[in-house]
Amino acid sequence: MSSLTLRGVTKRYGSVTAVAGVDFNCAAGEFIALLGPSGCGKSSTMRMIAGLEEISGGEILFGDTVVNDLPPRERNVALAFESYALYSPLTVRENLALPLQGRLPKSEIDKRIAQMTERFELGPLLDRKPGHLSGGQSQRVSLARAIIRDPQVLLLDEPLSHLDHRVRTVIRARIRHIHDQNPETTTIYVTHDQEEAIALADRIIVMNDASFQQVGTVSELWDTPVNQFVGGFLGDPPMNFIDATVEGDALVLAGGTRLAAPASARGARREVVVGIRPDWMEVEAGDTTGDGVIASRVLVNEFQGDRCVVTLESAVGQLKFLADEDFDGQRGDAIALRPLADKIVLFDRETGAALR
Ligand code: ADP
Ligand code: MG
Repeated sequence: MSSLTLRGVTKRYGSVTAVAGVDFNCAAGEFIALLGPSGCGKSSTMRMIAGLEEISGGEILFGDTVVNDLPPRERNVALAFESYALYSPLTVRENLALPLQGRLPKSEIDKRIAQMTERFELGPLLDRKPGHLSGGQSQRVSLARAIIRDPQVLLLDEPLSHLDHRVRTVIRARIRHIHDQNPETTTIYVTHDQEEAIALADRIIVMNDASFQQVGTVSELWDTPVNQFVGGFLGDPPMNFIDATVEGDALVLAGGTRLAAPASARGARREVVVGIRPDWMEVEAGDTTGDGVIASRVLVNEFQGDRCVVTLESAVGQLKFLADEDFDGQRGDAIALRPLADKIVLFDRETGAALR
């Protein structure tokens, strides 16, 4: 496996376009997260890569080879998804052995089952049948069954959605570790959870409305989102959005605060949305006013152990900022916010596209 390439890949179900001509390329060994809201086309994309779904248009390449017409078994791809159908007449042990039978000697199969049993804590489950497993247990078994083949492309479609939060963070670290031990394996991990994508991936594809919006490292997506959707989808608490107008070299926020417009946006009058992440502001107690300052008052101060998430009321509406754990602002306290001019991003109000 040298690389994976998608060229104009499209999936239509009747009149529904689930995937609208997506382009992507990754090198062997990358860990990619495919991140987007429910219904945006993630599973359809994965099923086409796996060969389980016909492609309505475009090309999928493994290395230099177009695989559009290769059946799943010849692609050396493993797919584990949310509700993977394990074979109900077989025990967990037999389910795990199934993808390897006829390909490897029995001693090697036993060795790999032992490995998976240890990694996913399957010991007590090996002789049970799928009907006697909980949702979370089934998910661990299907994950093990995908990985046991040592595939060149590992496709994981929301593989941890049935696990509780603590187990999820443990298993997700294990998935990353397994990926790192197999430098030739390309992993694509589907999730709607931005925290999971950020924790795991070398690069993230953000998908919405059947299209890939942006592909990049976490810091690229974080600092330079290509549009308002990407800006708003990553980050918890999310990016603050404020309506504003560019007037010459000034950026006038809805509440009247004037900031210097970024050089790239200066010029003709233009309606924009300003994106400000909760940590892209300097914060000062008191009711200072003047250029560059948004006057606000504390509405809620949530102490979260290692930080405070503070909701403020201001003339531009509610805003959130992140403060150190010792921030002691009380409801009603006056706070002066200074957005960091070299951090904020501007979006065209009509199209949502970032201004560069
Ligand atoms: P995601 O995995 O991001 O939630 P899907 O790829 O499952 O999204 O679905 C994308 C869109 O395609 C949705 O509108 C969904 O209803 C539709 N869709 C998915 N599978 C089928 C199918 N087999 N027949 C018809 N429509 C489908
Ligand atoms: Mg899905």
